[in-house]
Amino acid sequence: MTALTVHTNGSTPSGPALVEMAERIGREVAGPAADDVDRLARFPHEAIEALRSEGLLGALVPVHYGGKGSSYADIAAMCTALGRHCSSAAMVFAMHQIQVACIVEHCQGTPHFDDFLHAIATSGRLIASATTEIGTGGDVRSSVCSVELEGERFSLAKNAPVISYGEYVDDVLVTARRSPDAATSDQVIVHVQRPNLTLEPNTTWDALGMRGTCSIGFRLEATGTIDQIVPLPYAEVSGRTMLPVSHITWAALWLGIAEAALEKARVFVRSAARKTPGSVPPGARHLADAHVSIDRIRALVDSAVREFVASKDDPERASSMHLALRMNNLKLAASQDVLGIVQTALTVCGIAGYRNDSEYSLGRLLRDAHSASLMVHNDRIIEHNASLLCAVKDA
Ligand SMILES: Cc1cc2nc3c(=O)[nH]c(=O)nc-3n(C[C@H](O)[C@H](O)[C@H](O)COP(=O)(O)OP(=O)(O)OC[C@H]3O[C@@H](n4cnc5c(N)ncnc54)[C@H](O)[C@@H]3O)c2cc1C
Repeated sequence: MTALTVHTNGSTPSGPALVEMAERIGREVAGPAADDVDRLARFPHEAIEALRSEGLLGALVPVHYGGKGSSYADIAAMCTALGRHCSSAAMVFAMHQIQVACIVEHCQGTPHFDDFLHAIATSGRLIASATTEIGTGGDVRSSVCSVELEGERFSLAKNAPVISYGEYVDDVLVTARRSPDAATSDQVIVHVQRPNLTLEPNTTWDALGMRGTCSIGFRLEATGTIDQIVPLPYAEVSGRTMLPVSHITWAALWLGIAEAALEKARVFVRSAARKTPGSVPPGARHLADAHVSIDRIRALVDSAVREFVASKDDPERASSMHLALRMNNLKLAASQDVLGIVQTALTVCGIAGYRNDSEYSLGRLLRDAHSASLMVHNDRIIEHNASLLCAVKDA
């Protein structure tokens, strides 16, 4: 069994028990359903229900709203724990926590969002994200759609190419231009919720991997009151919270995928070693190489959590190009390493890993790992880093 990865810096007193709970849900609920979730491209209902009933959908919500008050280190460790058993369930959990983080960090103290935080904590509302849009591709920092205000009320319509688990959510955080005459980059985040939200599916989801995220496209239409609009501009929320927390939680769950793959390779090598006592099986060398990469992801996640937590309450530091570069580098490195590690595990296990009907099967993990470089395309992130490096004095 792989030792439980706990991102230790900044864990709360209840952190280890909550991470253990996520690991148990992964092992007993998400893992046993993972192949079915993948085969049918179905939502991991049982895992999300278990997380909800244990209050883990409200893990990040402060205790005074009824949440668990978990730290970002705890959340990252929960993502890793779930990622070890079902990548899709872990990704749903991660994407939900990213939305919660934006509310926790930027909306506390307003009546609408205080009520929302309380509802997330007490009834486990599940939140999705609609940042990408038909017409702008993966460029999340520009929107076609806009908020239309009429007195205290707004309406909003967005053609979203992908809203993961949209069919199963209570709430969506949507990006849009502030008003019909605003520039494409002058965006806000709007909290929209049922019953004043309709999501009309306009694509299907038959994808290579992360099949249980059910990431279909929707025509989103919503109405509401202006207190549902996040007070800070999207650019600021994105730079200070959404982007760092996305890259931390994604990298953490990719670490879980990598650990699952290497665990199969390790068992395979140990079994081969027992058959030929006194000699080191050829796969062991690959296994040792992959351990270098997995340790690198662990170190990167830990240091990113530390850096994010240290800077998040200092607006200048949190919006700095330096932090953006660091978080982008975490995403680039972890997304490449996870794929390399799963491929190495396949090299070690050979045909046993290639088969879909073997205990060493790596097909699902390999397909899931391929999503890492596309979820916000690495090409875009590298291009963004290139322009940041031209601008910063000291990287
Ligand atoms: C499993 C999964 C779940 C997702 N869930 C959600 C969700 O819940 N909500 C949501 O809003 N989105 C979601 N997404 C969307 C995702 O985050 C990406 O934004 C989206 O997949 C981008 O699509 P794209 O690759 O077609 O677009 P692009 O990023 O536009 O890339 C398309 C191609 O254009 C190239 N390209 C375009 N512009 C540039 C540039 N400036 N620099 C460099 N290369 C460029 C890229 O190299 C690539 O070849 C999800 C994606 C996946 C895989």
